[in-house]
Amino acid sequence: MTFGVASTAVLDPNCVFLPGTTAHVSKAVALLGKNDCKFAIKGAGHSAIPGAANINDGIMMSLARLNSTDINMENSYVRVGAGTQLGKVYEALDPHNVAAVIGRFYKVGLGMAVGAGISFLSNREGFTIDNVVNYEVVIAGGKVVNANATSHPDLFWALKGGNNNFGVVTHYHLSIFETPGVIYGGQITYPASSLDQLADVIYDYHVHQAVDDVLTHALPQYGYNGSMNETIATIPVAYNDAVDELPEIMQPWVKLPHTKSTLKKRTYGDLATELNEGFADGLVQEQRVFTVYADAQFYKDVWFKYRQWLEKYRDVPGFYGNHGNMPITPRQVQQGVAKGGNALGLEKGPQEKTLGIIYFGVTFDNLEDRAKVFPAHKEFVESMIEFAKSRNVLHPLIMVTFSGYDQPAIASYGATNVAKLRRIARKYDPNRVFQRLVPGGQKLPCCWS
Ligand SMILES: Cc1cc2nc3c(=O)[nH]c(=O)nc-3n(C[C@H](O)[C@H](O)[C@H](O)COP(=O)(O)OP(=O)(O)OC[C@H]3O[C@@H](n4cnc5c(N)ncnc54)[C@H](O)[C@@H]3O)c2cc1C
Repeated sequence: MTFGVASTAVLDPNCVFLPGTTAHVSKAVALLGKNDCKFAIKGAGHSAIPGAANINDGIMMSLARLNSTDINMENSYVRVGAGTQLGKVYEALDPHNVAAVIGRFYKVGLGMAVGAGISFLSNREGFTIDNVVNYEVVIAGGKVVNANATSHPDLFWALKGGNNNFGVVTHYHLSIFETPGVIYGGQITYPASSLDQLADVIYDYHVHQAVDDVLTHALPQYGYNGSMNETIATIPVAYNDAVDELPEIMQPWVKLPHTKSTLKKRTYGDLATELNEGFADGLVQEQRVFTVYADAQFYKDVWFKYRQWLEKYRDVPGFYGNHGNMPITPRQVQQGVAKGGNALGLEKGPQEKTLGIIYFGVTFDNLEDRAKVFPAHKEFVESMIEFAKSRNVLHPLIMVTFSGYDQPAIASYGATNVAKLRRIARKYDPNRVFQRLVPGGQKLPCCWS
């Protein structure tokens, strides 16, 4: 995937605060609240939403120095500082033959642990949020709270999807799972001539592979390079076991004609490092997302239409389009329920259907081209949401971690969950510090007083 982080980088905070301990965060939150001072909370800064993790005329609190990883083998969790890059977590865990349920790219951060979080292990274990066993969090006023199944369980539930609306998480306790030390994974690159058949493999992954073998993993995506007017797909594919080749169920990925494969036995850390290499730091980025019930024809049609739309902007310098399509299997949803529930509201839909997270991302070089591309991109994705409705496949979820800045991600959890989130926010943050003073990112739907 090609991504940029310019939305975070281009803002100009009055100062950057780099707490080194939970106590520093606690003092800062107390002080900022008392003085009505605006601030932003930055994990590793990979949200594409402008201002999600940075701020003009305020303080950017970067958690980068909270980067410890302490493994507790006896109780099967790792305590991770909230500014730690995911690759560092894998590298700390790999030598102990354990892994956490976290994202797939080295430099990305734990913002996903208050959002959703799709991992190599998600087909078996669910989202990242479902595998947090404790949030060490500084709430409004500066109090440090441990939110887990038995201590502040309401806050625990709210943090599982509630983004930066409830406090500053300083450390996550993430469940760890035994691994064989190495797994089999890499990226497979398919030429344009394979893409029609690739769509069938992607659908098969959503409804068969990911469902019937929980050790499978793939991140289906297509890429469009404007300057070359070229479409290819480079797809991360992995099997979470120390096998020498993909098992039979995943053979469609390798049987399809491809131009390159980096599949091999390797650690999670090594795989996260390779995936990160496609990164395009410094580019302008816009992303949008919606969710559908898995549907082979819809998947094909939406990509075809996006490909046509992308071509219209091929002359924009550095233009690159990315279309991702990630499954949420029924088991993933059930894992959320079994592990205590989360705020996303997924358990209310038909339980037997795989969902597809339909992702659209564009990047390009110059901020001046925003006015040309962003509104048109929004209009296109809105038209695809209408298209999904017309095909009867639209699901309400707007996944917060992949959402556009003006997409109603938290409202998409449903009225009951939103009301519950508001009640919990009112209880822990009566002065609305995290609504008023932390303006960036996906906020609770307006309004409560
Ligand atoms: C290259 C790339 C690869 C990605 N890969 C994956 C993937 O494999 N799986 C997946 O699920 N998602 C993935 N994502 C999306 C990712 O989940 C989100 O961008 C995520 O929010 C990034 O977290 P961060 O800490 O890097 O970002 P940030 O921009 O620092 O944070 C995101 C939001 O969370 C809030 N936040 C962060 N930390 C805290 C905290 N400690 N306390 C309170 N609020 C906090 C911030 O205020 C901000 O609003 C990817 C994104 C990129 C750009």
